[in-house]
Amino acid sequence: MRVKLAAGNWKMNGLSADLAEIDALAAAHPDPRSEVLICPPATLVAAMAARTDGTAIAVGGQSCHPAASGAHTGDVSAAMLADAGATYVIVGHSERRADHGESDDDVRAQARAALEAGLKVIVCVGETEAQRDASNTLDIISGQLAGSVPDLVTGESLVIAYEPVWAIGTGRTPTTDQIGEVHDFIRARLEARFGTGVGRSVRILYGGSVKPGNATEIFAVSNVDGALVGGASLKASDFGGIIAALDAA
Ligand code: PEP
Repeated sequence: MRVKLAAGNWKMNGLSADLAEIDALAAAHPDPRSEVLICPPATLVAAMAARTDGTAIAVGGQSCHPAASGAHTGDVSAAMLADAGATYVIVGHSERRADHGESDDDVRAQARAALEAGLKVIVCVGETEAQRDASNTLDIISGQLAGSVPDLVTGESLVIAYEPVWAIGTGRTPTTDQIGEVHDFIRARLEARFGTGVGRSVRILYGGSVKPGNATEIFAVSNVDGALVGGASLKASDFGGIIAALDAA
């Protein structure tokens, strides 16, 4: 039985004053059935972790460097995120792959570092619109899974987020059939690589323009174990609606 996960990615949004949204979220959802995670910018991880202590909300990072420490100006290591109170980190988000040129090898190294630091890792995969139009979606997902996911994972420490690049921040989503096809494919790849025990325990999130209004139909799709949410995670009322839909799924 996989515990569903509602994960919010604040991206480069949020100042100290915005931590009030977390108080509102915690008050509205004191005892959710689903796991709830917010990944704020690195500047807010420690403050959010302190603020959510004693609530059902976990805190994560949005990326990490593969090294534990060293001469990497501007970067944050997995050990630093863990030290600040994070329990998860997202790696391989398409914005990191595009803006920072992160390859599958880079993402795998980051994921490995995260696991070594005791963090759970959310590895993002997803096709561009051109790749979907060329009927290459499953090949792309297959390659990203093989290249970005490290070998030493457990069913609890690894989460996969399927995020079609063209659906992120656009208000567009795949059909539920398209989401189901990719999620079933990811499940089959995980079982083939890690065996059924681990393969069936890994949570697979859908990400890309999830809102309270479309969450219920997306959460009804097979092998959708929750969502990675960008824009709609910034406001407690929106993210709360998504948590409620996941709790009811
Ligand atoms: C994301 O950035 O991971 C994401 C899914 O964004 P949005 O929900 O805004 O599409």
